[in-house]
Amino acid sequence: MKMTVLGCGDAFGSEGRFNTSFYLEEGNRKILVDCGASTLIRLKQLQIPVDQTDTIIITHFHGDHYGGLPFLMLSNWIEYQRTTPLTIIGPKGIEEKARNLQEALYPGTTNVIDSMDINYKEYEESRWVQHEEIGIYAQKVSHAPPSNPHGVKVKIGEKVFAFSGDTEWNDSLIDLAEASDAFVVECNNYLEDSPGHLSYKTIMEKMNQFNTKKIYLTHMGSEVIGQPQLDLERLEDGMRIEI
Ligand SMILES: [Zn+2]
Repeated sequence: MKMTVLGCGDAFGSEGRFNTSFYLEEGNRKILVDCGASTLIRLKQLQIPVDQTDTIIITHFHGDHYGGLPFLMLSNWIEYQRTTPLTIIGPKGIEEKARNLQEALYPGTTNVIDSMDINYKEYEESRWVQHEEIGIYAQKVSHAPPSNPHGVKVKIGEKVFAFSGDTEWNDSLIDLAEASDAFVVECNNYLEDSPGHLSYKTIMEKMNQFNTKKIYLTHMGSEVIGQPQLDLERLEDGMRIEI
């Protein structure tokens, strides 16, 4: 499975990094994990064809994770005249959230975009659900409750990509990391957790409980980005990693 890091920054664009978002490729499947405000721009910068994504997975309803959907939809519709199916998978309420956001940002476009072949699916918590060749496992995590926060695992063939979403410490992270080939964990802060977010210190204390082949840090604020040396690998915008 190939992972392209479209962005690994926080909600504030700290140090000029783009919103955390990943592009996964395995076989002929192309999956976008989270779609923040900067995601469409990053797809274009990295020359990834916008209309080839077949599945979009949204972890929670915060702008840096789902706020880019209307731009992506408009591009698919106007620039690509997309006819191939697109599945959008997310927490309960994903369809209503996506449609309301579309109408807020581009009034009058929701009905037109409905002419595209878009299927919305909601997570089933704490169990694997198969969507064609893609297995998806979602777990509730600890972040702003109105955003309906989740971490996810995505399995295609033998490879498992795991992502914490945005969260403070929660034992569900152990379950999310379990048997994954890569566990991408949010690391907003350096030494102190903040409401809804993890610190590097906490991740170091807990990492022995993660049964994963490799841990990567994402959703980093300035302090984490600015540390000269850390014992865990920090992602960088534009990285391409074979997992
Ligand atoms: Zn968030």
